[in-house]
Amino acid sequence: MAHSLTPQLGRHDHAHHGHAAGEACAHARDHARRAPDALLEAERLCAERGVRLTPIRRAVLEALYATHKPVGAYDLIEMLGQQGRRRMAPITVYRALDFLLAEGFAHKLASRNAFLACPHFHAPDEMVVFLICDQCGGVDEVANPDLARSLNRLIGHEGFAVDTRVLELSGRCAHCRRPARAAAAESLPA
Ligand SMILES: [Zn+2]
Ligand SMILES: [Zn+2]
Repeated sequence: MAHSLTPQLGRHDHAHHGHAAGEACAHARDHARRAPDALLEAERLCAERGVRLTPIRRAVLEALYATHKPVGAYDLIEMLGQQGRRRMAPITVYRALDFLLAEGFAHKLASRNAFLACPHFHAPDEMVVFLICDQCGGVDEVANPDLARSLNRLIGHEGFAVDTRVLELSGRCAHCRRPARAAAAESLPA
């Protein structure tokens, strides 16, 4: 019986590429890698701007960096509570989030009513496009000045004053779209 050298993996396999137990997805790895530098940068920017990254603000920012998925305010309170801290009142967490949003350390995703840490320190007037993956929950950000300019031209005649420039697109990220076969081959020992 001839046997094929091609592994018959992933055919008609509707399972997600599924991160093997304990294996973080690309978004999570990226986020975890950036977190220490981003926290240092946030501290530096606060000192430069004469504002304070209080222990509460810092704890909320750390909690946002602890996950690569956007988190709702109440989930944040849960996450913070699990770290042995005294349970924070929602108003405290919302105030900390307001600070983080205003300083450009985090973003709010209107479509999910959830927050995520921004390691790119986008200015509040920057046009940020969020690519939200429905499969893994990861969020990528792209900022594009050309897009902001053409949008400004488009609304220029409307006499409309813009407060937030955020575009949210949902779909599947490159990592999740990768064929199951490639993912399986990659996980084989070298
Ligand atoms: Zn950002
Ligand atoms: Zn994904």
